[in-house]
Amino acid sequence: MVAPTTMSGAAALQLRYALRGGAWAAIYLACVLAPLFALLIGPLPPARDFWTEFSVAVGYSGLAMMGLQFGLTARFRFVTAPWGEDVIYHLHRQISLLAVALVVAHPLILFAVRPELVALLNSFTAPWRARFAALSTYSLIALVAMALWRTQWNIRYETWHALHIALALIAVAAGLAHMVGWGLYLESPMKRTLWIGLTLFWIGLLVYVRVVKPLFLLRRPYRVSEIRRERGDSITLAMAPDGHAGFRFKPGQFGWLTLWGSPFQITGHPFSFSSSAVATDGRVEMTIRNLGDFTSRIASVPPGQLVFLDGPYGAFTTNSEPADMLVLIAGGVGVTPMMSIVRTFADNGDKRPVLLLYGSRTYEEITFREELETLTGRLDLKVVHGLQNPHEGWSGERGFIDAEILRRQVPPPYAAHEYFICGPNVMMDGIERALSALEVPMSRYHSERYSFA
Ligand SMILES: Cc1cc2nc3c(=O)[nH]c(=O)nc-3n(C[C@H](O)[C@H](O)[C@H](O)COP(=O)(O)OP(=O)(O)OC[C@H]3O[C@@H](n4cnc5c(N)ncnc54)[C@H](O)[C@@H]3O)c2cc1C
Repeated sequence: MVAPTTMSGAAALQLRYALRGGAWAAIYLACVLAPLFALLIGPLPPARDFWTEFSVAVGYSGLAMMGLQFGLTARFRFVTAPWGEDVIYHLHRQISLLAVALVVAHPLILFAVRPELVALLNSFTAPWRARFAALSTYSLIALVAMALWRTQWNIRYETWHALHIALALIAVAAGLAHMVGWGLYLESPMKRTLWIGLTLFWIGLLVYVRVVKPLFLLRRPYRVSEIRRERGDSITLAMAPDGHAGFRFKPGQFGWLTLWGSPFQITGHPFSFSSSAVATDGRVEMTIRNLGDFTSRIASVPPGQLVFLDGPYGAFTTNSEPADMLVLIAGGVGVTPMMSIVRTFADNGDKRPVLLLYGSRTYEEITFREELETLTGRLDLKVVHGLQNPHEGWSGERGFIDAEILRRQVPPPYAAHEYFICGPNVMMDGIERALSALEVPMSRYHSERYSFA
């Protein structure tokens, strides 16, 4: 049972997150719309027809949204906490689509109302301000196309990431050059100051992410203290803070790991913490499955290697309204945050019931199998394994953890439990649909998707 004081604490936390979420959404809207309204203050250029003015407004809004995209991926914990990083990255993606739609709509409307402007598409004869507009629009279209079809086009994640940042910078810089080149609404010093301020703010975000934050990480390195091979082609890296106290995390959270090179490199890799959150010496563990070029090199990391950890991040944590029981649903390496949750329960002597529905390919590949067996003795923990390729004589669940297994294994009332889901997208989609069919409110389940892209 959970004490009533804890319940009010959790409800208060949710309320705080909801208010904070609302405040950030309002600040975001203000940042997008304020520059637009500010353009209408003071002396105005001679009025033109409605559609021309409308297309200019659409262009300015698109540019403001593009600039703010740098802020969305800047990993500001106080901004992302109410939602979690995956939701923010999803939002980043959706806003990009909207920003591109606005930026593309800007010339299209102009061409429709003033067909003579189509001639500006000829970059050999067009003035510079039109060339910048074209460069910004083409970069933005390329950026979005690469984000949508990166996997189909077989582009390496790291290559894509570097190109993504380069194209974003070109799109915003060329957009600003186009705006200044035209300068129709920027004649008054006040408006120029506003846009210069906004540009400096965007540059500041970039400097923070690419210079200030890496410098901070450089001064707080970690050392690999232990390497353990796990079942299921996975390796656990234990890392201890080197010369500082480290950070505290909540079970279910993750960090960005840089193993080779400095924190200034463009791409870090996100991994959930798999260790107990109770450790007081700042030591953290990550359990990493060999799934690609970066993760295949984990096996070659020597003990004592210096690494960099940026964290903790994520809202995949147990701090929402307390429930009568935790239902952890994991597929493959998605078990890592669940492991942190049960290890923390064990260290805290928490006797709340926990049900772990855990899908693996084979019995031999069940990561943490033996430790989970031991933990069932120390906790009120029940583990149900589902095997995709079961051996002869296997009498347990078969295939992906799905709606059927969920209904069979989870006792009602379904809406009274708190659910944590992490695994392959197809499994997560199925479970989310099943929970919705079982009328479990969204506030009762947390999903952690292992792909932001
Ligand atoms: C919040 C979160 C927690 C995760 N926790 C774990 C964990 O505990 N254990 C584990 O084994 N894996 C975890 N992952 C997945 C892990 O980050 C990827 O498997 C790993 O980065 C793949 O890198 P790669 O170069 O080996 O593979 P690649 O073949 O290069 O990449 C495979 C796919 O992983 C994704 N990916 C690759 N690099 C990144 C990156 N830098 N940022 C975001 N996505 C990327 C891309 O969608 C890519 O297509 C987690 C992912 C996220 C988002």
